[in-house]
Amino acid sequence: MFNYVFIVICIQICMVSKLFSQDKIKTTDFFKDLNKEEKRVIVFKGTEPSGSGMYNNHFEDGIYVCKACNNPLFNSTSKFNSNCGWPSFDDEIKGSLKRYEDNSFFMKRTEICCANCNGHLGHVFEGEKLTEKNLRHCVNSISIKFVKKN
Ligand SMILES: [Zn+2]
Repeated sequence: MFNYVFIVICIQICMVSKLFSQDKIKTTDFFKDLNKEEKRVIVFKGTEPSGSGMYNNHFEDGIYVCKACNNPLFNSTSKFNSNCGWPSFDDEIKGSLKRYEDNSFFMKRTEICCANCNGHLGHVFEGEKLTEKNLRHCVNSISIKFVKKN
């Protein structure tokens, strides 16, 4: 009887870990302290409503780090006002992001995730000619955290 229970538990662990490994998101402690809305965006690749984020019209000296793991992502010097309703950056801190092809909602987009924890940040668009660097990292405020320059 004990052996049977043990085997069933093993099979269930295998199934659950297989489920998670199919997702790009790592299921580690990075996401355990996030609230429901943060998880919806960061873990399950949601989007906050346009114009609703706390950093949409936020312009101060400092850096923006990943909400889940504190990885430095963007310098405030690369933030610009694109009027798109989400914080926009025309550059990233080198090596801080991962890019993935995203074909959801019948659109061809490039998803950006934190290179450290793989949490969802938003999308990056090229060729809009909004700034000299010709890039717009369109980021959910809820995915990032501002750290003031000291
Ligand atoms: Zn992260």
